[in-house]
Formats: sequence, C-alpha cells, structure tokens
Amino acid sequence: MFVDSHAHIDGEQFDADRDETVARARAAGVRAILNVGTGDPHGGEIERAVAVAEAYENVFAAVGVHPHDARLYDEAAEGRLLALVKGSRRVVAWGEIGLDFYYDNSPRDAQREVFARQLRLARAEGLPVVIHSRDADVETVEILRTEFEGAARGGVMHCFGGGMWMAESVLELGFMISFAGNVTFKKAENLREVARAVPLERLLVETDCPFLAPVPFRGRRNEPAFVVETARFLAELRGVEHEELGRITSENFARFFNVKFD
Ligand SMILES: [Zn+2]
Ligand SMILES: [Zn+2]
Repeated sequence: MFVDSHAHIDGEQFDADRDETVARARAAGVRAILNVGTGDPHGGEIERAVAVAEAYENVFAAVGVHPHDARLYDEAAEGRLLALVKGSRRVVAWGEIGLDFYYDNSPRDAQREVFARQLRLARAEGLPVVIHSRDADVETVEILRTEFEGAARGGVMHCFGGGMWMAESVLELGFMISFAGNVTFKKAENLREVARAVPLERLLVETDCPFLAPVPFRGRRNEPAFVVETARFLAELRGVEHEELGRITSENFARFFNVKFD
C-alpha cells in the first residue's frame, strides 16, 4: 500500500490516458493521490485540478498559487481559491505555495508577499499547507516561522531539496518532509543524507509527476504508479521493508491530511 503525496495528473500530459494512469496506480498498490493545482489562477487550471480529483475515487486536491505565478495573484484569484476550498470536500490542503529563487519566474517581493498571504489564509481556513521551496531555504523557514508557527494544521515540504538545516528547522515546526524521484538520482547524496535522518512518522513519498521520474524510469513521463520505486529506494536507504515503508507513509498521509481511503 502506497500513496502519491504530490502529483499533477490534471495537466495535458495526461489528457490521452488519465483513466489508465489512475488505474495503473491502483494496480501498483497506490491507494491515494494528492493532485495539486497550479498555473495561472485566472486560467481555470486550478479548477480543473479539483474537478479531476472529484472524478476519481481516492484522489484529493490542493489549491494555491505557485511561486512561479505569484505575479498573477490578486483579489479575484484569492476569491477563486476560497470558493474552491469551501466548495469541494476533496480539497484537503492549501498549496503549492512558497518561494522559487531558482527560476525567479515572479519577482521575489511578489513571491514573499503571496506566500505569506496564503499562509495566513490557510491558517484561517484550518488547512494544512504544501510548500514548494527552491534555492530559498532561509527565507522559506523565516516566513514559515513568522506566519505559521503554532498553526492548528502543519505543512509538507514537498519535493524536498533543501539542506539539513532546513530539514531540522521545518521538523521543529512540526512539518512533514516529502521526497520525490530526485532522491534516487546519482548526484543526490546530500538529499539522501536528509532522507536517512527524517523520523519515519514525518516521511512522505511523492512523484511530482509528470516531472522527475525516479530511477529506473528517469527521463520518461512520470506518473503516480512510479511512486512505488521511490518508496523502494527509501526503504532500502532506511533499512526497512518496502511494504512497511509504504504502509507507514500511507498512514502518515491519512493522518496528516485527515482523509480516509481504501
Ligand atoms: Zn513544487
Ligand atoms: Zn508540484
């Protein structure tokens, strides 16, 4: 039993075979998927992500404005997000939100402001958050400490790519840490160091598909069924049975997002 804690199966890369993709995940033992809505908040993509979650059993959704699109955030976007949060029981988290200083697709000031604002909204709505952070360890932690310390629900550092300091800092805030296929890549020894240290009850596994397919599928379109390979890799790294790691991370997902699936 496995869970894909972060996927993007609403994108056009899956238009031709979305039903089969979900069926292949199920057949591989993947019992639940968190589908994360991203893109232009005025373009209908986030609404589509929620619609895809509602179309399948055991698929949940997160909604938020990604740091790439922070420059497009305004009152209307915020209204759309709040309508989705209040309008669908499948929406179980606010995200992905955060800072991306690697691509800098939006000005950094806008990223900081939109990140903080959405943390306050999630807190007010009583939702956990899904955090995207790239090349911004220190500022991400600072903003989380300011805006989310003591919140009723915690957060997930998705596709973790930070250093040990960041891992320890977010664990102190009560956060979960989720690893994607890049932890299996040859050069990712620094990530494996973190993956060995995260307490098992704080660990999640994800694909972030269609990106970042794990070894041995590297370079192909990624899909939720492949989360089983990342789980296998992490199980070996941690010296636990593959099925055991799958069970623990599935229970972590159910507990953290407060969802039921079978
Ligand atoms: Zn991300
Ligand atoms: Zn993502």
